[in-house]
Amino acid sequence: MAEAAWTPEEGLDAARAAFRAAFSTEPDEVWASPGRVNLIGEHTDYNGGLCLPIALPHRTYVAASRRDDDQVRMTTTLADADSRPEQWTGTLSDIRPGGVEGWAAYAAGPAWSLRNAGIAVPGTDLAIASCVPLGAGLSSSAALECATGLAFSSLAGTPLDGDDAQRAQLAELCVEAENEVAGAPTGGMDQAASLRTRAGHALLLDCLDGSIRQVPLDLEHAGLRLLVIDTRASHSLTDGQYGERRSACEAAAAQLGVVTLREVNDLDSALARLDDEVARRRVRHVVTEIQRVLDVVAGAEADDWPTVGGLMNASHVSLRDDYEVSCIELDVAVEAAVGAGALGARMTGGGFGGSAIALVRTDDVDRVADAVLSAATSHDLVEPEVHVVAPAGPGQRFA
Ligand code: ADP
Ligand code: MG
Repeated sequence: MAEAAWTPEEGLDAARAAFRAAFSTEPDEVWASPGRVNLIGEHTDYNGGLCLPIALPHRTYVAASRRDDDQVRMTTTLADADSRPEQWTGTLSDIRPGGVEGWAAYAAGPAWSLRNAGIAVPGTDLAIASCVPLGAGLSSSAALECATGLAFSSLAGTPLDGDDAQRAQLAELCVEAENEVAGAPTGGMDQAASLRTRAGHALLLDCLDGSIRQVPLDLEHAGLRLLVIDTRASHSLTDGQYGERRSACEAAAAQLGVVTLREVNDLDSALARLDDEVARRRVRHVVTEIQRVLDVVAGAEADDWPTVGGLMNASHVSLRDDYEVSCIELDVAVEAAVGAGALGARMTGGGFGGSAIALVRTDDVDRVADAVLSAATSHDLVEPEVHVVAPAGPGQRFA
């Protein structure tokens, strides 16, 4: 089993220590925002669909102080305790599309979108420390943006951590930052999960209008646990494939005369109107996946966990066969988990590597985790990291 997420105390200590090491003084404030895992509703966000993420106990911590000039100095340990911290120094006006590269674009990006929105972000010193696995499909990018976004907005005197409307505004600004400054396409689920979730709940997010519903998710009470299986695989085709799936959905929507695939009510007649076999499979995934989100919510509310598990399995098959975004590492993990008694398992996140999840009876946790590890070994795959998680709270100030 992987190491547990940092406690808030450990996160605070790590961020403060990084700040002290870089700037030889104590930070004014420390903020943290979580990574996420999506229970169901994959590749639906950019189709105006539904998804159901939870916030992870894994958070990115940002210690920050206001400066009196327009300098921004940032340091990160890049989640790897053995590597030397990396630094970025520039001015507020350097932070713009094309002006910042690599990790610093993710960290600084929200300063740009906040300033565009009229929020007077000041010069800032900040230090980043995180226990969110990077590039594991658990959204370390949104955890970082949302944590710096909270810190920048607070140092500007208008912390966007109040009601859900403020948090939704910051989530949008973080999406804009990731799209424009980091140049990464992202659909909006990750930032909403990092900022708008509630502990002990999954977030039912309607990506058409940004509305949310908090869905109570007390797995422990049901005698269950959620395993997150980080396959530690990442296949390089990812970016092109993501864009290709998005375009395919847009083209199919155009052919069907709808703005987004969310509007497809009659799947059979929509499929009959598409002349391309691949387009038909892409549309079938999106439309059935949106329905599965509603069915999982109903199942969770009725305490009907076998049904929830079955829907997770169906989601995996749909992503694997119709949407074609799975890979050997994810398929092996899912099959091993289900074979060892998981109620359900599926790939989660964009695909082509990253993580899978499994819904498991508490007594079966070790057995399922062992089965997943030995299945990877027997297929000559990298050994996954298995985390046991419960829905944590959203980004907030910790000190
Ligand atoms: P994911 O969001 O699934 O983890 P992404 O590719 O979207 O994967 O984002 C990962 C990128 O985010 C990293 O390559 C890095 O640039 C940036 N990042 C995430 N966490 C940190 C961190 N703690 N410090 C610096 N950069 C980070
Ligand atoms: Mg990301």
